[in-house]
Amino acid sequence: MSILKKKRAMISYGRQTVNEQDVEAAVSVLRSSMITQGPVVEEFERELCAYTGAKYAVCCSNGTAALHLAVLAAGLGPGDGALTTPLTFVATANSALFTGATPYFSDIDPVTHNLDPSTIESTLDAHPEISAIMPVHFAGLPSDMASIGEIATRRSLRVIEDACHALGAEEATVDGGVAKVGACTYSDMTVFSFHPVKSITTGEGGAITTNDAELYERLKSFRNHGMRKPVGESRRWFYEVEALGYNYRLTDIQSAIGVSQLRRLDFFIERRSEIAAQYDRAFGSHPLLTTAPTVEGVKSAHHLYPIEIDFSAAGISREEWFSRMEARSILPQVHYIPVHLHKYYRERFGFSVGDFPRAEAFYAKEVSLPIFPNLTDVEAKHVVEAVLASLE
Ligand SMILES: *Cc1c(COP(=O)(O)O)cnc(C)c1O
Repeated sequence: MSILKKKRAMISYGRQTVNEQDVEAAVSVLRSSMITQGPVVEEFERELCAYTGAKYAVCCSNGTAALHLAVLAAGLGPGDGALTTPLTFVATANSALFTGATPYFSDIDPVTHNLDPSTIESTLDAHPEISAIMPVHFAGLPSDMASIGEIATRRSLRVIEDACHALGAEEATVDGGVAKVGACTYSDMTVFSFHPVKSITTGEGGAITTNDAELYERLKSFRNHGMRKPVGESRRWFYEVEALGYNYRLTDIQSAIGVSQLRRLDFFIERRSEIAAQYDRAFGSHPLLTTAPTVEGVKSAHHLYPIEIDFSAAGISREEWFSRMEARSILPQVHYIPVHLHKYYRERFGFSVGDFPRAEAFYAKEVSLPIFPNLTDVEAKHVVEAVLASLE
């Protein structure tokens, strides 16, 4: 056997699925007269509304910018608090900090890994300055929005869903039905990311959906330097800067890719759920493994396939396990190092190990296996064999 035998391409935990139609869509905008601030941004926004069922959508430069816009539009600032989960990407909590508001955390449900509604109220009681709840649909599995929405309504709080994992997912409604994530059935705003590993991609990109006309106007204003044309103003050149805004715009080039990707979203989610089902079957009864949770009546977007490995019972460290996977051309990831354990958060807010024990216990065992629409059955089988072999 030749030593020049072709090496297997590395299989990462997530990656984009781009086809020639996406390429053509981008190229046709590049050949047009408006490559940014043109009509395709609005077309992408209309398509996002049609897909999610929300009244309004505002696209912007990335998911982090979308979170920042949402927190600004909700009116948070110095003296306010925002409650989120420690089991998220740091951008969720940072977006509150950007406005001068303070992030607070509440522990996760041990099964779904989402914010546990039953622990939210004691956190709210302890911190009356909290004026918004920011649930994260971890791995694409929707949070218990009906319960969170009920708490928020009773206490007059804003709800901003960080659905960066969950475009294409469906949440349960109180009447026993389902609603698309992004319809804002139990929230004021829902935030999405179009980073390459997410449900659809525009390279970088993000969006906020809402049913509230006033929030919609504020989101658009903050996206574009706080500029607005006064109602009834006839001078073509006149605008007013009414707030401190940003340049968080998405280009028409990116929006065209988004429109093209959105057409295949349901297929993408379907393929992700097939891969998840393969992993469920392969690992479901393994004594050292806990598979990704499913919730009756809820549809996950399967952004991640998080699996818990009992490393101490397996007798290997997570580092050693990663090396074994890498030796078989697989690049898993860990989601997430809980936000409160990051150096910046520990030093600024005095958090320490033990503050959110369920999120920390999950973090100690979690690894994310490859899941993305272009992952082939052969590759998924290879991942299964590698995981089983790594624990023998
Ligand atoms: C990806 C992600 C973000 C940030 O999105 P970007 O588009 O990368 O800025 C925020 N929150 C969560 C939960 C994410 O997964």
